[in-house]
Amino acid sequence: MIPAEFDYAAPATLDEALSLLQEHGDEAKILTGGHSLLPLMKLRLARPGMVVDLRKIDSLSTIAVDNGTLRIGAAATHDTIQQSDVVSGHCSMLCECAGEIGDLQVRNAGTIGGSVVHADPAADWPAALLAADASMVLVGPAGERTVAASDFFVGLMESAIAEGEILTAITVPTQAAQGGAYLKMEQQASGFALCGVAALVEVDGGKVTSARVGITGVATAPYRAAAVEAAIGDGLEAAAAHAVGGFTPLDDIHASSAYRSHLAAVFTRRALETAAARAGGSA
Ligand SMILES: Cc1cc2nc3c(=O)[nH]c(=O)nc-3n(C[C@H](O)[C@H](O)[C@H](O)COP(=O)(O)OP(=O)(O)OC[C@H]3O[C@@H](n4cnc5c(N)ncnc54)[C@H](O)[C@@H]3O)c2cc1C
Repeated sequence: MIPAEFDYAAPATLDEALSLLQEHGDEAKILTGGHSLLPLMKLRLARPGMVVDLRKIDSLSTIAVDNGTLRIGAAATHDTIQQSDVVSGHCSMLCECAGEIGDLQVRNAGTIGGSVVHADPAADWPAALLAADASMVLVGPAGERTVAASDFFVGLMESAIAEGEILTAITVPTQAAQGGAYLKMEQQASGFALCGVAALVEVDGGKVTSARVGITGVATAPYRAAAVEAAIGDGLEAAAAHAVGGFTPLDDIHASSAYRSHLAAVFTRRALETAAARAGGSA
């Protein structure tokens, strides 16, 4: 399949990219890795008249820690993040998550920004970014704004980004957590998550005293598992039993609602146990 005809631009600066988006309005589509956009264009589910490729804007790919905050450029590839000592030193769970995405070819081309804006309910990054309390830095005609991950993933394939905006970076605050883990059960053909769970825990006296948990693949949008976090004092297995608390698990050709519900509890327990073990604690 080949896409419909389109114009292509690869601006060298963010200002040029923003101008192109303004000029072409809803005819324009941003491209970074192309691993989600190009299949949609080939299927003609997306028919942009203008494709704006961000990969020549070097600042969008940088990764740095500034004043304790990790800043990952939106066009950083999954593989770059997986291999990054800076990311690993700040929150190694993010590297683990990156390594779970697709295969090497996908990780070499696909970007963190493309993944979060595409907002596939089975994508891996959203769970990790929710658990890490990350924020999205968006730049548009009205300037820059920051949206917390918990407000960014608003529905099925729907994020809080507005038309004309570019996601420039993802920021992750200093992690008080001592241990982290990202685990998933993947759909065997696609590699996407039937259930993916990110956990960051704090441990005191060998016991988990607090946890932050993000879950993807289970509901129409990824979510922060507040019910698990609230019950952490009851022990990891008991807390994990609340993994779908307040959400309706998806029921589709890949897995039934009951199976996803089961996976959510099992993978939440395993992610919490792994994170606790890495922090030197236990259940
Ligand atoms: C075979 C295969 C297996 C995969 N397996 C997995 C998996 O296991 N787990 C997983 O999570 N994902 C998986 N993916 C998806 C992969 O991670 C994609 O890379 C990702 O979803 C999209 O990133 P991209 O950089 O390719 O974005 P693109 O395809 O270039 O863009 C995706 C969307 O985001 C928009 N966009 C991109 N960048 C920006 C930006 N900076 N600002 C504003 N809008 C932007 C585009 O306009 C488009 O709407 C897989 C993909 C393939 C093809």
